[in-house]
Amino acid sequence: MKQAPDLQQAQQRMAPGALTMDGFLGTDPRSLIEILQDDDGAVRRLGLTHAEIGAAMGVLTDRAIAAFGGTVEHGDHAVCACEAMGQMPCPFGHPGLYHKTVVEAENSVTGETMMWSVLQVHMVAEHGFYEGKGAHFRLEPEAVARFLGIFPRQGEGA
Ligand SMILES: [Zn+2]
Repeated sequence: MKQAPDLQQAQQRMAPGALTMDGFLGTDPRSLIEILQDDDGAVRRLGLTHAEIGAAMGVLTDRAIAAFGGTVEHGDHAVCACEAMGQMPCPFGHPGLYHKTVVEAENSVTGETMMWSVLQVHMVAEHGFYEGKGAHFRLEPEAVARFLGIFPRQGEGA
């Protein structure tokens, strides 16, 4: 599928060895526009928006960072900003730098754990980008939404 030049540039910045050693696309053979469209469809089917998912990740991320590397509880989650890895630019070409700090989170109800970087919170909220399949930090939209407790919505059953 043909994609606009800005997305083509973003895809190049996501390649291994450009901004990061491993890149953002994993083993995904799809173009960036296809990855974005597929995940957008998945999030729509959940009845959610990328902004809602990013906001829920952001709340936990802010709590973790405020705890300076300690583990802190927030609602049904325990979070830790365990790894600070410097800063990097957004591959979509936004000005400025984003922290690569990695947040580790545990859902204390299910025992499930997930991790993401501060940059990813931005990429989910602003770009609807969850990384390519096979990428180290790939987030499956439905799994993230369940983990965060925003899907299914309260009152819709489990
Ligand atoms: Zn951006």
